[in-house]
Parts: sequence; C-alpha cells; structure tokens
Amino acid sequence: MAHIYDYAIIGSGLTGLSIAAALSRETKNIALIEGADVPFGVNKKVNFPTGPMNNGLRFVPDSVLSEKALRFLENLLNTKVVDTVSEEAPITYESGGFKTFLGFGDTPPAFYEELAYFTSSKRLDLAMEPYEWTQALFEKFQGEFMQRSYVTKFHQEGEKVTHVTINGSKTLHAHNFIFAGTVKDLAILLPDDAISIRARSKLSKNTYWTALCLDICHAKPVTESTAMHILNGTTQDEIGPCAGRFLPAVETENGPLQASQWMTFIEQEVTEDSEVVGMALKKIKRQIKRAYPEALDNLKLERIFVAPIIAGNGDIKLSANMTIPELENLWIASSTVNEQKNLVGSLLQAEMIVASLGFKVEASEEAPATEATI
Ligand SMILES: Cc1cc2nc3c(=O)[nH]c(=O)nc-3n(C[C@H](O)[C@H](O)[C@H](O)COP(=O)(O)OP(=O)(O)OC[C@H]3O[C@@H](n4cnc5c(N)ncnc54)[C@H](O)[C@@H]3O)c2cc1C
Repeated sequence: MAHIYDYAIIGSGLTGLSIAAALSRETKNIALIEGADVPFGVNKKVNFPTGPMNNGLRFVPDSVLSEKALRFLENLLNTKVVDTVSEEAPITYESGGFKTFLGFGDTPPAFYEELAYFTSSKRLDLAMEPYEWTQALFEKFQGEFMQRSYVTKFHQEGEKVTHVTINGSKTLHAHNFIFAGTVKDLAILLPDDAISIRARSKLSKNTYWTALCLDICHAKPVTESTAMHILNGTTQDEIGPCAGRFLPAVETENGPLQASQWMTFIEQEVTEDSEVVGMALKKIKRQIKRAYPEALDNLKLERIFVAPIIAGNGDIKLSANMTIPELENLWIASSTVNEQKNLVGSLLQAEMIVASLGFKVEASEEAPATEATI
C-alpha cells in the first residue's frame, strides 16, 4: 500500500514554506514537493561583492494588512522580522533633478498595479530579509522535502484529489493537497472534470506579468538615499518605468562598494523575446545613468534575471475556503490569488489556508516571541 501523507504541499517558496512550517506544529507526515534543486523559490539568498542579499529588489509597503501578514510570519518564526515603520516618499528624476514621485498622471503603465506597490511612502524596514525568512521557515519544517520533483498532474476520485504524478511517472498520495506554485499551471495540472474548458483556456490565456530584474554592484558608493526610485525618462514608450533602490554602502577589502536593485515588468508572453528584454534592460540602465551619471562606470558586477509570472491570477474561481470548488481537498495557496500582492499576498494566503485547514498560528510558548513589533 502506498504511503498516504496528511498533507502534500506543492512548491517550497515563501507561501509553501509558511504553510509547511505551520503544519509542522501539528504533524510530521507532510510531503513538501519542489521542482527545483533547492527550496526557497524566488526568495533565495544571492551572494554579491557587498555581501548576501535578496534575489532582486524587495520592498514591503506599510499597511494594516502588511502588518497582519508580517505578524503571522513573526509568530511562525518566533522572532522579530520587522524593525520599524519608515516614512519616505519615493523619488523620481525629472528636468535635471530629483523630485518626489507624485504618480503616473494620465499615462499609467500597463503594469500600473504591479508598480504601485513600490510607490508607498510608508514602508516596513525589516530586521530579517526575505531570503532569511525562507531559510528560517525551512528549518522549522518537520516533514519530508522532495527536491527535483515537479508535479505534473492531479488525479481525482469523486470530489477529492487522491494523488499527484511527479515528474510524469512517480505517484504520491495524500489526504490534503496544497498548491503553492504558479496559478497558470493549473490549466495543465487539474484533472479534466475539475475545470471547464472555458476556465482552463482563461487560465492559460490571461495576462501575467514577469519581473525583469537588474542587480548592480557599483564600483564606488553612489548615494546615501534610501528612497524608492521610480524612473521613467522623458519619452513615453511601451516599456514603461522601473523601480529600484540603493542598499547601504559597505566596506570591503576592495574599498567601499554599493549595490542597487532595479525591476520592471514585461508581459509574460514576450519574456522569450530577447529584443524586448534587451530594450527593457537598456532603458533601466539609461534611467540610472541619467539620474546618476557615474553610477555605471567600471561596474563590479551586474546580475540580470527574469522571474516569470510573479503577478496575475488568471481569474480562477475558488471556494470561500480557498479550495477548487469541485475538489474539496485541493487548496490553492498561490500568492497571486490573494487580493494583496507579493510578499504580503504570499503570507496572507498562507495564513488563510492554514486557518482553512483548521489551525491558528500563535507565537510558540517555549521561546516567547519578542514583543509585538507591529
Ligand atoms: C525579482 C522579484 C522581486 C520581488 N520584489 C518584491 C518586493 O519588493 N516586495 C514584495 O512584497 N514582493 C516582491 N516580490 C514578490 C514576492 O517575492 C513573491 O510574491 C512571493 O515571494 C512568491 O512566493 P511564492 O512562494 O508564492 O512563489 P515562489 O517563490 O515562486 O515559489 C514557488 C515554488 O514552487 C515551485 N513549483 C511551482 N510549480 C511546481 C510544481 N508543479 N511542482 C513542484 N514545484 C513547483 C517552484 O519551483 C518554486 O520554488 C518579488 C518577486 C521577484 C521574483
């Protein structure tokens, strides 16, 4: 008889790991199934000449819901994640000088909603970076981690998923399945009876946004500004603006260095088009150079990467408890189905799924959490 896990969690990014860490307080009979070689998803550590940092720009706007999301994480980790709330308006570069960024006016970019997240004047300054969150969550996980295991199909009997296929051949059985991968993939993964042809086609054809990221190690410190930069330039084009920020300069054996991280969005469909990607990167660099003319001289390192489909929910219809309506034991945890975006959406979605599974995450008693920070 095949082993039956209590929970099979598909995807070990921030969302899957948060759920895995929470459920580990209840049982060890959990399979955490990950297609990649390592856990952590997009929130992995990157080693840079300036030291370890996040895999691309990370910013958390302050709001009641951000605070709720981060409190869930603090309770899970039993440690302080947020340092302070800061207020600093985003800036832009116009007519030869820096100005407070006041909005996109009459010509917002197509990915306005994705970028608006980065334009909040109030932000949470973190005591622990997102790449450290995922590492700490993974340490709390008590079940079985299966790397290089890509779920290729869900199988149902009646209104329940009974098992999944992994890498096209292996099967894994569980009582409950939690999907924390990319929602678009459900068009392929869901069994035929679980989703109408129309809904399946909507899922695959919807507009999804891909993040195009540029991490730079400058040859010398460029600015002490910690403000979010929203740079667009003078001409309107299809590529649209980028958001970015400088990290504090650090002393290294090669003298003081500073890193900066930039991001724009492109439609997922054109991600394969190297011309579009090339043009968008060129535009980011042009805007940085315009604002800081010497910033790109003798760069120490430049890291370019594309993070596919970080936004877009495909309009999938879910039950109030976040299951697929026709499949009562398949919970959709993908962060993009949450009304909140990004890291905040990830954590709120994880919290909601954990609650829907019947659990509540309180700060653990053995090692009391630091005082509520937020
Ligand atoms: C470059 C970049 C910059 C960002 N900047 C910010 C920011 O400034 N502020 C902010 O709040 N948010 C930001 N975000 C968004 C935030 O990081 C994400 O919303 C969130 O972390 C997503 O976590 P996740 O676990 O849902 O997804 P992921 O981290 O993508 O993890 C999903 C995991 O599931 C695995 N997987 C998928 N499908 C399968 C399958 N079928 N079988 C097995 N495994 C599977 C994948 O391999 C992956 O490891 C950024 C994201 C990126 C990429």
